[in-house]
Amino acid sequence: MNSHILSQNRGASEGPRWLWGQAARFRRWQLVSLLILLLAQPLWAELLASPIRFEKTTDGVRESLVLRNTSSVPVTLRLNAELLNTTSSHSLPRLYVIPALGTVQGPTFEPDDSRSAWRYQTDYLFQFGDYRLAGCETPFFLPWNPGESYQCIQGFHGSFSHHGGEAYAADFDLQEGTPVLAARDGLVVSIVEHFTEAGTTQDFFDKANVVMVAHDDGSLSRYLHIQPGSAKVTLGQRVQRGEILALSGNTGMSAGPHLHFEVAKPGSNLVTTTMPFLLLYEGMAEQPQVGKTYKAPVE
Ligand SMILES: [Zn+2]
Repeated sequence: MNSHILSQNRGASEGPRWLWGQAARFRRWQLVSLLILLLAQPLWAELLASPIRFEKTTDGVRESLVLRNTSSVPVTLRLNAELLNTTSSHSLPRLYVIPALGTVQGPTFEPDDSRSAWRYQTDYLFQFGDYRLAGCETPFFLPWNPGESYQCIQGFHGSFSHHGGEAYAADFDLQEGTPVLAARDGLVVSIVEHFTEAGTTQDFFDKANVVMVAHDDGSLSRYLHIQPGSAKVTLGQRVQRGEILALSGNTGMSAGPHLHFEVAKPGSNLVTTTMPFLLLYEGMAEQPQVGKTYKAPVE
């Protein structure tokens, strides 16, 4: 009972010296890339804009890149470059994790033969979060109002829809219109709320409304199937645990109203992939158990 939003993001940065012939070739390449991107990721505009900035320094011959992350959560960046008569000090493509509001040293480019024209053109994909995470040790709070109880109706590796990159997810039987709360503090990085339909076939797999929150440890949490137009937060907003994100609903690949909650990270291909997580319940941290009813404590 879930859906999946591809969450790759991209950007480009041009090198210093450009010849028209090369530029035309790359423009065509970029256009094709953009079309593929649009076809594969119709929801890309519902992601927070790129927080990546490249800062160039030069010693008169070589150029070095510093990679800056302007967001308040870690970001994984996949950098690539087309090189002509140029050597990169880092083998590319390469993955970098840039800390919140921080920088990492990127590659230095230098000409193979400084008597000839040389150029490079970088492009990148990014995703909020840290692809190196093996799991998430900090438990998550139950994402509904204190005093309310809901049953876990599908858990990790659930046979209906918790497979592959979506294996580590839990479904709870929230009725439509129930407030969904942030399970941890974080930054809202994706909101999709325009889908209105639901069904049990694969046709509905990528038609779930979703709010995604990025956390300070590089993990991501996602709340799926929310009601159309029900988001109570905006892209780029910092939320506190317990703050209302949206109303639960029944959109996308779903057999009935429920909340799908998952914890994810970027894969090495930057597509998000889920990982095991713990819920805080009655003072204990445990993986969600199918059939168990979870009551959020009144604090
Ligand atoms: Zn699910």
